[in-house]
Amino acid sequence: MNSLVIGLQWGDEGKGKVIDYLAGDFQVVIRYQGGHNAGHTVYHQGRKFVLHLLPSGIFYPATLSVIAHGVVVNPVHLVNEIRQAQEEGITLGRLVLSEAAPLILPFHQRLDVIFEQSRYQRIGTTQRGIGPAYEDLTGRRAIFIRDLIDPGRFRRKLEPLSDYYNVLIRAFGGEPVAIESYLNEYLAAGKQLQPLVADTVTLLNQLLAQERSMLFEGAQGTLLDISLGTYPYVTSSHPTPGGLFCGTGLPPKALQRVIGIFKAYTTRVGEGPFPTELNDATGERLRQSGGEFGATTGRPRRVGWLDLVALRHAVMVNGVDELFITKIDVLDDLDEIQVAVAYDINGQLSDSFSPDPEFLDKVRPVYQRLPGWNCKIDAIKKQKDLPAKTREYLRFIEKFVGVPIGHVSLGTRRDQTVRLIKK
Ligand code: GDP
Repeated sequence: MNSLVIGLQWGDEGKGKVIDYLAGDFQVVIRYQGGHNAGHTVYHQGRKFVLHLLPSGIFYPATLSVIAHGVVVNPVHLVNEIRQAQEEGITLGRLVLSEAAPLILPFHQRLDVIFEQSRYQRIGTTQRGIGPAYEDLTGRRAIFIRDLIDPGRFRRKLEPLSDYYNVLIRAFGGEPVAIESYLNEYLAAGKQLQPLVADTVTLLNQLLAQERSMLFEGAQGTLLDISLGTYPYVTSSHPTPGGLFCGTGLPPKALQRVIGIFKAYTTRVGEGPFPTELNDATGERLRQSGGEFGATTGRPRRVGWLDLVALRHAVMVNGVDELFITKIDVLDDLDEIQVAVAYDINGQLSDSFSPDPEFLDKVRPVYQRLPGWNCKIDAIKKQKDLPAKTREYLRFIEKFVGVPIGHVSLGTRRDQTVRLIKK
């Protein structure tokens, strides 16, 4: 069944592990949005890999991995990521790159850094140029992979765009970026990528007609979606299902199941509202035992309790069919676990979510306290071996959000996953 894996929180839900766990059952794994700001951590043959642009299906030699045109691509980064994986001795599966993926260029990154340090925009981006590259797309200025692999065409399109950006960079007190400082590196990357480049819209539709099984890999998370997230503290693309169709050129009927991933607690990186944030010893404990430091930037993540009001909203907007909870083992040594079940706004209780940051800054979460299981669960393989209190906790979540939990992840490895079968 063609499935979308989507993060239901603010990203970093453990999608890399989940996709790697599921990918063996699919013939095609597709990235459809975001850029190398994503950082999907996968443990493969006992080693840790952080994938930024490569789809997480890449470790399965029989799987076709596709970077569709909804993804913005820094070609130099992509070449390096492929080389690094090869140097680590990984046999990569087949990779196809869309000819229509917009390019991230060095001036995008410079402007991203300038804006993050300015008073105009402080979002907490990864400063890799992803936002400005997407702005070029809506500004109808973007340059694409198909331009890069044709040196004359690339240079012709690059010159006016470079002028445009250097005017902006200078105006904000930055150092302009000379084309000559990166042109050869970009052209060399284009040459290396050329054999992978294809019209992925046609290819994916042909694969759909051939009934190949597809797994769509959402990066970031629902509450970071540019239209559905906590704007302006969001990413610049659409991780939610709408982004899949625009970002691949596949029709809605291509998607048969939505698997929503969420962590047993909540984290977020960068700025923005976070009602259940914990700035205390419990938060620090979760951060340390969950290893909550950014896969792309190394930044400590903000940490808090699971927010079921926000989760139920994310389930609704994505049409989630089943849930996949991760990092439940991080709660192992807690006597008590809290989950937000309502918001208190000046004494008024509300159980509905709004992504408006001013609303979220005002709310005080109302918590349900649940007993912890107080034992290590990371070696459990079967549903019946989960402690009763863990099952109680899972049932509480299912009941609140109204969607079944299909899998529980209790460790970083593929085999540290328990499938829940409904009786
Ligand atoms: P992603 O961007 O959604 O893929 O999330 P990240 O890769 O940034 O963060 C997830 C981190 O948690 C990675 O280091 C994973 O290996 C790790 N992880 C995933 N699932 C589990 C789990 O069930 N338990 C534990 N302890 N770690 C997990």
